Amino acid sequence: MRKLNGRHHLRYGSIPSTHAINSLLDSQHAKNHPPHKTTTSKLTGKQWSNLKSPIKDVNKCLNGVRECFNPLFPLFSLGSKVVDHFSSRFSFHSSSSSSDEDLYHHIQNLNQAFRSSQTAPHNIAIIADGGVKKSQVATAVTHIWSENSLVQHLQANSINVISIEAELMAIHLGLIPTMEEKNVHNIIVITIAAAKKFFESKNDPLQNMFIPVTSAIDSFFRKDGRNKIQFWFCPSKAKWPKHKLVDDQVKADKCAPIFPSKESHLFNKKKECDNILSEWQDSFMSNPKRGQLFLDFKDENQKVIKPTYAKDSSWLPSIGFTNSLCARFPRMTTGHAPIGEYRQRFLPHLPISCLCSEAEVQTREHIVMECDTYNPSTRPCNIIINSFAHFLADNPSAFSFDNG
Ligand SMILES: [Zn+2]
Repeated sequence: MRKLNGRHHLRYGSIPSTHAINSLLDSQHAKNHPPHKTTTSKLTGKQWSNLKSPIKDVNKCLNGVRECFNPLFPLFSLGSKVVDHFSSRFSFHSSSSSSDEDLYHHIQNLNQAFRSSQTAPHNIAIIADGGVKKSQVATAVTHIWSENSLVQHLQANSINVISIEAELMAIHLGLIPTMEEKNVHNIIVITIAAAKKFFESKNDPLQNMFIPVTSAIDSFFRKDGRNKIQFWFCPSKAKWPKHKLVDDQVKADKCAPIFPSKESHLFNKKKECDNILSEWQDSFMSNPKRGQLFLDFKDENQKVIKPTYAKDSSWLPSIGFTNSLCARFPRMTTGHAPIGEYRQRFLPHLPISCLCSEAEVQTREHIVMECDTYNPSTRPCNIIINSFAHFLADNPSAFSFDNG
C-alpha cells in the first residue's frame, strides 16, 4: 500500500464524526418526532443557499452542548458487540506497570511488532496522537506506515473537546480509511488513547464518537477471516521515535479558532469541574481558618501548591506515606507543632526557647533555617515542597513530640 485514496494530507474544519453523529441523531430524532414546521432541516439546497446569514449562523455557531449519547446503538448490545463475534481478532498491548524497566520491555516488544508490520504490503501500522491547546483547539494527527515508509499523514482539528476525544479522533482518522483498503489484513495501531473504549458496551459520553469506528471494525472483521487489529499503547514519556514524530506534529499545529463552536459533553463537564476547583482553591487561599502561619510551598515548577482532589491530592505525594512524616509535615506547615512559637501563644507557662540555646523563641524558621541541632546541610534552600520533606526525613526529631 503506497497511498490511501490518493491523499497525503487532510485538514478538516472540524472532527468529521461530529457531522456524522449529528446527521445520525437528526435522522433518529425524526423517526420519533416530526420536525418543527420552521426547522432548517426541511430546507432545500436552493432555499438554504438563499437563506439570510444570521439564521444559519445561529444554527451553526450558537454555543451549546453537542448531543453525544446513543446507548441503544445495536453494536453496543449484548450479543451484538464486536467482542461477542471477533474476540480473537483484536488485542491490546501495554506495559505491565509504569516502571522504567517494564516500559523498556514493552517498547522492545513494540519495536518488534512494528518491524513485523512493515514486512508485507497487507500489513499496516497506524500511529495516532491528539492534544488540546490552551486556545481549546484540538489537533488529531495520524501517520500511516507501510513497508518502512511513511505513506500518509492525516490531520483533523476541532474545538471545545477534551484530549481523550482528540486522541480517539486520531485513531478514527487512520483506522477507518485503512480498513476500507482491499488488501490490508493486519493493522497495528500505536496510540496513547484508551482504545479499549471502542469495544465497550457501557454507557459513555463518547459513545456516539465510537459508532463510526466500531461499525467499521465490525465490517473489517466480517469481510475477511484474516483481518486482525493490534492496539499498542505508547506513552509519550517513552519518546518512541515514530510516535514522537506524530506528537511533534500535534504540538506544532497552529490552527486557530475562527468561529464559535458547540462544546462536547466532556468539555462542558471539565469546564464546570475546573470552575468549581478554582473556586475551592481561591477560597482556601483566602480562608483565615487555614491558619496565620500556613506555609505556601511551591512545586517543582515554582507554582504555589493549591488543593486538588486528583492524583492523591496536592501535598501527600511529596510527603510520602510514612506515619512520622505524615504527622510532622502538617505540624510544620501549619505551625501547630510542639515548638516554642506555638507554646508562646497557646501554652505560655511552658518554655519557649530552643534547646540549642541560640534562640529565645524557638520559631519554625529557626528550626528549619538556623538551629544547630540539625545538620546544616539538610536545611531547605528554597520553598519547594520536596526540600522541606527531605529536611523532615533527614531529621526525625524535627517537629516531633519526642523532642517537645
Ligand atoms: Zn535551636
